[in-house]
Amino acid sequence: MTMAINDTNEKINRAAEAFQKWRKTALPDRITHIQNVKAKLLENKKQYAELISKEMGKPISQAIAEVEKCGLLCDYYIQNAPAFLQGRKITTEATESFVTYEPLGVLLGVMPWNFPFWQVFRFAIPSILAGNTIVLKHASNVPETAQIIQTLYEDAGLPKGIYQNLPISSKEVADVIGNPHIKAVSLTGSENAGIAVATEAAKHLKKSVLELGGSNAFIVCEDADLEKAVSTAVNARMQNAGQSCIAGKRFLIQETIYDTFLEKYKIALSQLKMGDPMDPDTQIGPMARVDLAQEVEAQVQKSVAMGATIAFGGNRNEAYFDPTIVTNITENMPVFNEEVFGPVAALLPFKTLNEAITISNTSRFGLGVSIFTKDINTIKSRISEFEEGAVFINEMVKSDPRLPFGGIKKSGYGRELSEEGIHEFVNIKTVLIQ
Ligand code: NDP
Repeated sequence: MTMAINDTNEKINRAAEAFQKWRKTALPDRITHIQNVKAKLLENKKQYAELISKEMGKPISQAIAEVEKCGLLCDYYIQNAPAFLQGRKITTEATESFVTYEPLGVLLGVMPWNFPFWQVFRFAIPSILAGNTIVLKHASNVPETAQIIQTLYEDAGLPKGIYQNLPISSKEVADVIGNPHIKAVSLTGSENAGIAVATEAAKHLKKSVLELGGSNAFIVCEDADLEKAVSTAVNARMQNAGQSCIAGKRFLIQETIYDTFLEKYKIALSQLKMGDPMDPDTQIGPMARVDLAQEVEAQVQKSVAMGATIAFGGNRNEAYFDPTIVTNITENMPVFNEEVFGPVAALLPFKTLNEAITISNTSRFGLGVSIFTKDINTIKSRISEFEEGAVFINEMVKSDPRLPFGGIKKSGYGRELSEEGIHEFVNIKTVLIQ
């Protein structure tokens, strides 16, 4: 769907006008509005979840969980925004010195389809509470979800112009970034989309936050609780049919337990129920688009041609891709050095923790890593060696409103969630009174 440039500019003008009022709206009033958004979100939870499942194939139980998590995010910022935005006194030789956190203006969000509610909420809620207004270009394969989020905000009574959906193509994003009213942009998506958006933002000297791909290592040491490691490995890779930036993608297993892990992992994957996303028992649905499933298939086939073995699964039927394990991996294979955005686990053995850290860091990406071990003291002493935005020990990497979220290297820059997230799109104003 494309939209006349005039419509887009009109919406941006409306967002700029709305900003002038919203920036002066007292924080307790902004919070009341977000409480109403949360109430509307939960009231219509089922309808939103069904739409997510319909448009991008997420199993309905996971779609409901996604909507509920947006509610938790609202709660978190409702409770914490006053402290995060109250400013900070700093002692100097002056009579008084402090910083204030002020909104920037109209922000552009460019968001993906894989968590079509969550990705929008985690950008929009803290930004709106900080006093900004938003125009949002959502992924083109979730147009109804994109529009219903705007309707949700409006039905919750948020003043018009504070949150608007822009049903534009990715080609039109550059013009939006260039619009003088747009002060900053946040993108979640692929590396290429990130480069395109960051380049445009840089041309206009506008701030960008990029949350891009990942190829997280999931390391299992020989002393780990194996049952827990296997069951977590199932969720870490198969949740959302593998279409998650923070999914475990490269499974590094200490060689002494490699065969046992592989056998247990196969059994666990064979028990997953694949099928209609609207069925509440379904654990794996179709991928979001046939072309995305074909891309995963090509990455697997190319790796097999380079010597990899399909140890489990490997088949595609239209957009459905079977839970898959690939072994005999080398570092030049697509299943190792690219982001595989589907239910495919690459398994590699390692001898020592040193080797595991080296393999883990042999990736363009740096979003996060999971390590399973009982030796917490040793692993804590090695945390700084991981080139990642997050290190999770005995747990899969997952987002939590209380914890900052974001990557380094080709996984992007900036942080979402927590206190860091709400401070990305504010003017940190320094005040000194002599
Ligand atoms: P994209 O990165 O292309 O899409 C994400 C968002 O960016 C969409 O809104 C898209 O719009 C927009 N976009 C794409 N290209 C540009 C551009 N040049 N300028 C401005 N905006 C742009 O993801 P795809 O859907 O094509 O998926 C491809 C791959 O990207 C996946 O296989 C996966 O590896 C990765 N990906 C990673 C995500 C993550 O969470 N890290 C999320 C989604 C994808 P439109 O839909 O209109 O093209």
